[in-house]
Amino acid sequence: MLVTIASLFVTQAYWFKKSFDLEERQFDEKINIALRNVAHKILVLDSNYVARIDPIEKVASNEYYVQTNCYFSLITLDSLLKEEFLIRNIDVNYDYSVVSSEIKEVVLGNTVFNTTNQQLARDSIVACSTRLDNNLDLDFSIRINNKTTYLLSAMGIWMFSSLSLLIVLLVFTTVFVFILRGKKLNALKKDFINNMTHELKTPIANIAVASDAIRNRVMNEQKMAQYADIIHKENDRLHNLVDRVLEISSIEKSADTFTMELVDVNEVIMSVVDNFEPLIQDKKGFIKTSLSESNATIYADKVHLSNVVYNLIENAIKYSDKAPEIDVKTINEKNTLRLEISDKGIGMSQENQERIFEKFYRAESGNVHNTKGYGLGLSYVKMIVEQHKGRIKFSSVLGKGSTFNIILPVH
Ligand code: ADP
Repeated sequence: MLVTIASLFVTQAYWFKKSFDLEERQFDEKINIALRNVAHKILVLDSNYVARIDPIEKVASNEYYVQTNCYFSLITLDSLLKEEFLIRNIDVNYDYSVVSSEIKEVVLGNTVFNTTNQQLARDSIVACSTRLDNNLDLDFSIRINNKTTYLLSAMGIWMFSSLSLLIVLLVFTTVFVFILRGKKLNALKKDFINNMTHELKTPIANIAVASDAIRNRVMNEQKMAQYADIIHKENDRLHNLVDRVLEISSIEKSADTFTMELVDVNEVIMSVVDNFEPLIQDKKGFIKTSLSESNATIYADKVHLSNVVYNLIENAIKYSDKAPEIDVKTINEKNTLRLEISDKGIGMSQENQERIFEKFYRAESGNVHNTKGYGLGLSYVKMIVEQHKGRIKFSSVLGKGSTFNIILPVH
């Protein structure tokens, strides 16, 4: 289809050019006849019936030079030009000038707008010719000012068909982009479902085993409590999983569900960091915080904001192959508060950087099961930040680490 559309476009362009050239040739011919007639009438007025009219010289694509080699007044030339153009229906704006045949210098000149508009044509001022010496031999030249526009407007049907083709091309491209996008989303969704089933299978299997064991009652009290505990924990895991997916779809629907209040971002950060402390110690890493001393209070939904910080710190830990070294900062800038979270983890390739905010996108789908996740974290973060009228930026170097910046307005 692309090839067909492209060849259609080339054909159209080719024929458009051809018909423009043809139109121009016809126009030149019409002008040529009109100017020859003017020259002829000038010679007759000069009582010169025998002189041969030299061919009209086309000096530029829109400029013509006519040799008459006799005396005529500017008024005569003006009215003859108007008359000829009117007869031939040549409706253009033009400048003309009277040129001395000998020294080829412009002696007098004038501009005419629109010959078929009688009023405008009459209004054009003709310069006084009394200054000219009656013995002077004169030629004249004329320049059409709106030749291209005139030719294009004469090609109405061509313009219409080209425009239609352009619209078809635009529609086609849009449809094509949508199809491609749909295809990409489908692939991402398939990845997501694979991950999800993988994540769901483990807790379901654990619950099945534990509940079977309880049903068979072949155990002591202590074992029973242990199995009940397993069921409870796995149930929690399933619950969290479902919540995360539901959360994303509910936020997409509307921001009305937000409970906006004054929130101290530093406090939120500290409480999230505290939650991660045991995990960080386990991995022998550290989180360094340097929080802004001045006002870090913003108008926000506390739960969603904590989730944002949680997701970013969780990613910083998840995507560190060695002991995580994480820096969390808040900085006051003009009317905004910048929250910066940087890690010295695995970083991202250029290709991944372009796509991390896409829903369900996970880098290197080959080994996605090594680090847990559904590719929803960053799309959620971006959505929440934007709902809070903020911006998210990041920079990352593969193998060196990543830095995420969230800029939120301060009230
Ligand atoms: P998830 O972590 O569940 O896969 P996210 O939306 O949070 O989904 O992240 C999308 C992808 O962005 C991740 O799969 C990962 O490849 C990349 N990514 C996110 N944060 C980081 C980080 N701090 N360092 C390196 N890669 C990251």
